[in-house]
Amino acid sequence: MALSQEITLPNGIKYEQPLGLFINNEFVKGVDGKTFETVNPHDEKVITSVHEATEKDVDIAVKAAREALDGPWKKLIPTERGRLLTKLADLFEEHKDIIAGIDTLDNGKATPFSKGDVQNASYCLRYYGGWCDKILGQTIDTDPNSLNYTIHEPIGVVGQIIPWNFPMLMWSWKIGPAIATGNTVVLKTAEQTPLSALYVATLIKKAGFPPGVINIISGLGRVAGAAMSAHMDIDKIAFTGSTLVGRQILQAAAKSNLKKVTLELGGKSPNIVFPDADLENAISWINFGIYFNHGQCCCAGSRVLVHEAIYEKFLEAFKARANKNKVGDPFAEGTFQGPQVSQLQFDRIMGYIEDGKKAGARVITGGERQGTTGYYIKPTIFADVTGEMKIVQEEIFGPVCTIQKFKDEEEAIKLANATTYGLAAGIHTKDLNTTIRVANAIKAGTVWVNQYNNTHYQTPFGGYKESGIGRELGQYALENYTQVKAVRIYLGNSPF
Ligand code: NAD
Repeated sequence: MALSQEITLPNGIKYEQPLGLFINNEFVKGVDGKTFETVNPHDEKVITSVHEATEKDVDIAVKAAREALDGPWKKLIPTERGRLLTKLADLFEEHKDIIAGIDTLDNGKATPFSKGDVQNASYCLRYYGGWCDKILGQTIDTDPNSLNYTIHEPIGVVGQIIPWNFPMLMWSWKIGPAIATGNTVVLKTAEQTPLSALYVATLIKKAGFPPGVINIISGLGRVAGAAMSAHMDIDKIAFTGSTLVGRQILQAAAKSNLKKVTLELGGKSPNIVFPDADLENAISWINFGIYFNHGQCCCAGSRVLVHEAIYEKFLEAFKARANKNKVGDPFAEGTFQGPQVSQLQFDRIMGYIEDGKKAGARVITGGERQGTTGYYIKPTIFADVTGEMKIVQEEIFGPVCTIQKFKDEEEAIKLANATTYGLAAGIHTKDLNTTIRVANAIKAGTVWVNQYNNTHYQTPFGGYKESGIGRELGQYALENYTQVKAVRIYLGNSPF
């Protein structure tokens, strides 16, 4: 199979799509000669096939990353690393229409949102470009005979495994801090969405990164992903995806070289509406909280908790709002919600919807697929749910939310914290004291107030409880890509 192919996007843009593995700044075929298909979720047709990395290719990519780490990358001054990241950010912006178009084709995101992802990915790279020459250690005064200082060194060769829900955003959240702190990278994309990262690989070379610093491979989780997690020469894995796979990665790390692991996993996040909230505003954010990206957000506000005094009024207004979301062709003007990413995800979500119905939850709207072709599911609201139902406890990762009633603040907090997850939460109220009390009491890595799903590259993101380990974004992410060396110098003569 060829290493590239011309593709014409449904919006008329023509471009050359790389299909190989990007190792040492070159596109190559996999050693075992394997390939796999990627499908357009809008029409269920195969877009193209890409070369597949197996264990041997992971070895080659890791070797490239190791040689770069010990060679040219180490010699580059931090400010030059910053220049490269900034240049890459510029190239993202220059190529934004193609990159966004690829994600709309491969993932099914509506155009404005894939454009938003590319813009935010570019900002994220730019932001971390600024950090490169500001990685500081400390001096520590222990006694007059000592000089103590710390150095924050790169961890080394970092393996990064990303999901399909935000192919470009997850790419930038991973690459930005890893490169800023001087690591080299082998990044594996999700098998459902390999295309945009391969296109962006051409920009890595164009930006001037030395060969081997950023290697991008397409491959299956159970093959290439598993090989990375168990690899003896990968020093850290940064993963975003399901809790199930997160556990497997931790186990593989424990059984191999005890590589460092950071995990950004699932969620079942509460979005709480107090009776004094500006209802129209709250509903707009709650709608965005669950239906943005077709519900395929780890932080989706999938459990809506509403005060009993406004419950029925809320249901009516939210139903009306959800029904206004335009579901359809992600390339069409005005589309808000495109198809789910794959047949597998579609089936999983429909399974949860059936389960909710059988368990006795009331369907307020949706509850079925849309059309007969493409993985489209109508925005779905379930009311009259109980805490034990599967649809309330488990991550659905689709356009499905549940509504629960609460009588007071204490009950809202109890319900909010009643899952094994702790990624995010939303609070809608005008009362400052309620805001602060509830934000303090919720066990989640992010609390949004009078808004939702509004991540920012400058603020940290990550999970409490089973939603993960470590933080991405902001200054906090840098800690997850460095190790601290303490140097102690004795200034006097030996007292022994
Ligand atoms: P997944 O966890 O299987 O896939 C995510 C990434 O992990 C992909 O790159 C995949 O190739 C890789 N992977 C899979 N198995 C692996 C293994 N054994 N070792 C190493 N890497 C492996 O997720 P999925 O199957 O695509 O989706 C399943 C569910 O996961 C979703 O329904 C959703 O609940 C959750 N999910 C969460 C996120 C998130 O952002 N937190 C993203 C995607 C999926």
